[in-house]
Amino acid sequence: MRNPAYNFKDQVALVTGASTGIGFATAKAFAEAGAAVVLVDINESSLYTATNELTSSGYNAIGVVCDVADEQQVSAMVARTVSTFGRLDMAFNNAGIAGPAGEFTEDTADAYDRVSNVNLRGVWACMKHELIQMKKQGAGAIVNCSSLGGLVGQAGRAAYHATKHGVIGLTKSAGVEYASRKIRVNAVCPGVIETPMFSAMIEKTPEAMKEVLRDQPIGRAGQPEEIAAAVLWLCSTASSLVVGVALPVDGGFTAH
Ligand code: NAP
Repeated sequence: MRNPAYNFKDQVALVTGASTGIGFATAKAFAEAGAAVVLVDINESSLYTATNELTSSGYNAIGVVCDVADEQQVSAMVARTVSTFGRLDMAFNNAGIAGPAGEFTEDTADAYDRVSNVNLRGVWACMKHELIQMKKQGAGAIVNCSSLGGLVGQAGRAAYHATKHGVIGLTKSAGVEYASRKIRVNAVCPGVIETPMFSAMIEKTPEAMKEVLRDQPIGRAGQPEEIAAAVLWLCSTASSLVVGVALPVDGGFTAH
């Protein structure tokens, strides 16, 4: 699927968790729409493969290894973006992990901290350093990756859902704070999307995932490109009045 309606020529897009799944589909869509793209991921080898796929197709892209849970690495990653391409116009803070699955009372504090550090503090750190740069430029668009898990609860996944609810809090607050400074902040809430994370979740909690799929009014799982399409829209001038939303892209899951 292509996004021919968007022209991001001379603009720079940053995508975290860009090696695979939703992140890679979005990085590719930004590149196809003309942006220079910074692919960010903790996984060096898959990042290399993903970046190479884009550059060998003639797109302008670099890969930056970064653990979004580490603010120093995030600051350096944004600095590298600016030193390479001169600016940062659009950011998709997508990196996330599934975290512990199982009964609430069996969760450990360490597992809770890890999912929170990546999914919530990671998004906060990325937003902070992206906003510092976008403020200097006087414009920008940020999209955070929440989840249907940011809008509803699910037995056995409290920690993950808590982080994704938190991402919406960060999005709305920053959206309100920066709207008048021409920086729009929004979130997407993907439903069940076919990615490596989805396969891992099915393996860990097959019953819960079957239930989730049964509840998809659209009757199928989504594709990463369908999330990328929403992210590009939220970064484009086509959504110029849209601020602080948590947009479900979930085949109707949260509508019923
Ligand atoms: P994925 O296939 O697991 O890809 C996520 C990428 O992020 C991986 O390359 C992963 O590296 C990387 N990553 C993990 N921790 C990181 C860190 N600390 N710093 C930088 N990169 C890191 O996931 P996905 O399914 O595409 O999901 C992407 C986002 O969508 C996540 O935030 C997820 O919560 C959200 N989401 C997904 C679904 C779904 O059904 N797939 C539904 C709702 C929301 P490793 O492979 O080394 O871990």
